[in-house]
Amino acid sequence: MTTAPSAPEIADLVRKVIAELTQSGGVSGAPAASLPSGFVGAVPPEPSATASCGRPAAAHGIHATVNDAVAAATTAFHQLEALGMEGRRRAIAHIRRIAIEDAEELGRMEFAETKIGRLEHKIEKLKVLGEKVPGVEFMTSEVFSGDHGLAVIEHAPFGVIAAITPVTHSLPTIGCNAINMIASGNTVVVNPHPSGRGVAAEGVRRFNAAIHRDLGIDNLVSLVAEPTLESAGELFNHRGVKLICVTGGPAVARAALQSSKRAIVAGPGNPPVVVDATADLDRAARSIIQGAAYDNNLLCIGEKQVFVVDSVFDRLLAAMERAGALRLTGSQVDALTKRAIVMAGEGAHRHPVPCKELLGQDAAVLARAAGAHAAEGLELVFGETDVDNPFVPTEQMMPFVPFVRCRDIDEAIQRAHDSEHGFRHTAIIHSNDVRAMTRMGRLLDTTLFVKNGPSVAGLGLGGEGYLSFSIATPTGEGVTTPLTFTRQRRCTLVDDLRVLGSPDALA
Ligand code: NAD
Repeated sequence: MTTAPSAPEIADLVRKVIAELTQSGGVSGAPAASLPSGFVGAVPPEPSATASCGRPAAAHGIHATVNDAVAAATTAFHQLEALGMEGRRRAIAHIRRIAIEDAEELGRMEFAETKIGRLEHKIEKLKVLGEKVPGVEFMTSEVFSGDHGLAVIEHAPFGVIAAITPVTHSLPTIGCNAINMIASGNTVVVNPHPSGRGVAAEGVRRFNAAIHRDLGIDNLVSLVAEPTLESAGELFNHRGVKLICVTGGPAVARAALQSSKRAIVAGPGNPPVVVDATADLDRAARSIIQGAAYDNNLLCIGEKQVFVVDSVFDRLLAAMERAGALRLTGSQVDALTKRAIVMAGEGAHRHPVPCKELLGQDAAVLARAAGAHAAEGLELVFGETDVDNPFVPTEQMMPFVPFVRCRDIDEAIQRAHDSEHGFRHTAIIHSNDVRAMTRMGRLLDTTLFVKNGPSVAGLGLGGEGYLSFSIATPTGEGVTTPLTFTRQRRCTLVDDLRVLGSPDALA
């Protein structure tokens, strides 16, 4: 196994590869100066990717302009079409293999570049995407067979899809979107979050280099090397783009919903947890820590605030401490709240948001900001708050979770509902009362509803089901799959090919 590079080594690699690519012309239409700062190369250029053989250099997905990226993805779409399902399967196999085999190295790059979350989970997210994101096996067709013959409903690609990806999982979202979209025969142009564009470019380059070497197609996944809000807007409105898929917070979700094109929107969440008197409290505590501490609570599905019935409140907090979380005192919670949550927006739109300095930082950093001492290996800090504490309505994306004492289960469910803001994203309950589960499920009406486990179980990690890092919430497609990115086509044959029935009945 190769050792993953450290941050300074990554910087060296960046300089080396930029020089290498500049000589070989490996970025479509781009002067070297416009390469992303974190751009690192490790796959040696193949012979056909060099300018010296007289053919244009392979861009391996990295493009200076939206126009170049869409043009390359359009060519790739037609080439993929010609290779059929087997071509899609082979292309995806390379993305899976690279996500798994290079997880350590790419995970380190993502961590070094974005400076948020936890290294072990950056690595794990790449591995699980390689293993668990559904591919061509999801491409089923439906048939109606009857007295008037056959109608087959098949799922066709859209063409070039525009994808906007978040900083919280830059390359994992791209890898996952790419597997889904290529499985259904599409190609994709990504406008990544600017703070995760280096690792995004490196992952995309590796995916394309391997696919090109095997199948002779480049740019199945294309990327705008210097992403901006303007390039996102240009991509949304580009004639060559047939569908939009955004994964991100409220601003980008709103922008996509206002677009004139069909959009699949994986928007923000603020997942509440309810714990009632029938719950297994130790299991609940372990689950809350596992979900909320994962990647320092950057996941959109991660546990963000907990509502507990009064009769078990103190016992649950004791269980949290036994399970390794650090309980803050009231004054420590106040100190952390002042540091961690700031106000943004103007007038009626003024609202609390997490401060950049603490977003995605380790529990030990939060503990210190609160004036507490953190033991080695601390994963989560928590504390009792009232329902008006800004940590309750805010998607904090940091490993501090507020616990709110509630009179009874009805109050807990109602408060959980209010704190979720109607995003209809994710909710969690720990209970053995099926009526309580049912009531909460109905009131919150969320896309994911997890019972008696950590939030990640809702994505098939410790629970049943498949994985995606894009969970389409306001637009309703749910955990995205290859079929999410398809158009239905119906093919009807009148009076023939239903082979059931009497041969004498044929006219
Ligand atoms: P973000 O909204 O700041 O950025 C997401 C992407 O949108 C980035 O590429 C950004 O450059 C772009 N963007 C932002 N405003 C835009 C606009 N007006 N027009 C076009 N593009 C715009 O989010 P983030 O901090 O990167 O990620 C965290 C957020 O994403 C959280 O709210 C989280 O809940 C959400 N998220 C949701 C899912 C899901 O599956 N539903 C998955 C991951 C993250």
